[in-house]
Amino acid sequence: MTPVPEILNFVGGTRLEGRSAFTNVSPTDGTSLATVHEAGPEVVNTAVSVARGALEGPWGRTTVTERARLLRRVADRIEERFEEFVEAESGDTGKPLSLVRRLDVTRAIANFRSFADTVSAIGLESFLTEMAGGRQALNYAVPKPLGVVAVVVPWNLPLLLLTWKVAPALACGNTLVVKPSEETPTSATLLAEVVSEAGLPNGVYNVVHGHGPDSTGEYLTTHPGIDGVTFTGESSTGSTIMRAVAPHVHPVSFELGGKNAAVVFSDANITDTVEGLTRSIFTNTGQVCLCTERVYIERSIFDEVTAGLAERGRQLRPGRPADAETTMGPLISTEHRDKVLSYYSLAEQEGAEVLLGGGIPDLGEELAGGAWIEPTLWAGLKHGARASTEEVFGPVASLVPFDTEEEAVHLANDSEYGLAAAVWTQNLERAHRVAQQMRVGMAWVNTWFLRDLRSPFGGMGLSGVGREGGAHSLRFYTEPTNVCVQL
Ligand code: NAD
Repeated sequence: MTPVPEILNFVGGTRLEGRSAFTNVSPTDGTSLATVHEAGPEVVNTAVSVARGALEGPWGRTTVTERARLLRRVADRIEERFEEFVEAESGDTGKPLSLVRRLDVTRAIANFRSFADTVSAIGLESFLTEMAGGRQALNYAVPKPLGVVAVVVPWNLPLLLLTWKVAPALACGNTLVVKPSEETPTSATLLAEVVSEAGLPNGVYNVVHGHGPDSTGEYLTTHPGIDGVTFTGESSTGSTIMRAVAPHVHPVSFELGGKNAAVVFSDANITDTVEGLTRSIFTNTGQVCLCTERVYIERSIFDEVTAGLAERGRQLRPGRPADAETTMGPLISTEHRDKVLSYYSLAEQEGAEVLLGGGIPDLGEELAGGAWIEPTLWAGLKHGARASTEEVFGPVASLVPFDTEEEAVHLANDSEYGLAAAVWTQNLERAHRVAQQMRVGMAWVNTWFLRDLRSPFGGMGLSGVGREGGAHSLRFYTEPTNVCVQL
């Protein structure tokens, strides 16, 4: 048997062993992919102090122009090593190669280029203050790096979400200690190589591997030597991290969970809507924070839309990532599948009629060790049922009819989460009216997951704190010093 590769921590340009190790398992077939070195408190300590040292070194004196140039070099280098990133990402997650090429790696490149552009274009905030007697004062705010930033990210879009934070944080001159998910350690480590190849100094980008609670994630987020935490993951983890940083009053940027709604009016283009909903429910096996898990459909078209969605769901093809006909990967792990399956059972106990799926597909012996699951649709769940209130994070949605626009808005907004929504209608006035009433950070009309990286991204309520994207990201990753000069 060929030994599996080892993934080490990356600190100050050096690979460091951990205090223990764990096996990274393929969600496609359950085989071992790598042995990962788990960073204990010593490695985390070293990473934070190396990052502090780099901040106080030449990196702390780089100009915006120089940093933008380096970000573009990182983007170019990812492009040159594109297929290595595709393999890394697909290996850890089981995603179809076609999806990783189209979405994950392409967006990672775009993240670096976009934030290079944004940081280059942005000006200083300034005010000319008028005083009694005709005198004036000039105020201008100088943005300084936040400092040593802890970056903690999940497994569902590992490289995309990591670079969404790393690119603006580097653009602003910070140094980073990154903790990828224990499920997906590979692409963050590959990015460390690329960042070095692009010419960023050692110690600017550090990676520590390991689990969250009572482990690497907790050591990092409770460390007094960091200056802030940027986190994407579950709402409950965000709440834990908020408590962890409270003693030091460190700033946080949180992108958390969702229970996103789509509202479909009878004047929608049904073909486009069914296609759009198929993407928004099932993309990445439902493991995108923006995925739709609640669909409210005007009663007169309920049967037609429901039948269309079930038909499209039946056409999805689970299989190995490299197979050309594969359109759906597995869930991230069998542990996560147990959680999703527990919601499949709960929904039935709560009275759901299962229109599609509901179980584990039989994909033969070779894939029996993978975390495969059937795409699933429910009808008949009552408003307030747990399965239609709590985030499942799997390929599943609850379909519910409505009679009036007011009712649809109420149903969609009646959630503790507030991340994203989609409105499907051809009535222009209604489109704007309803989209603006959605209590979410992002509302789409007749589309889903269409992103301009300069626009604000984030959620309300349990879905997060703050916004990232364009100038919003730069605001979080900097501390302004206002200078007031009496003229
Ligand atoms: P998770 O919260 O379990 O883990 C995320 C990261 O936090 C991992 O690196 C994990 O090791 C670490 N972690 C866990 N507990 C920790 C602790 N106590 N202290 C410090 N670090 C800790 O989330 P997940 O299961 O990896 O990801 C799925 C979740 O992420 C879903 O809820 C999804 O909606 C959310 N998500 C949100 C967005 C967004 O932009 N809003 C994007 C993607 C995913």
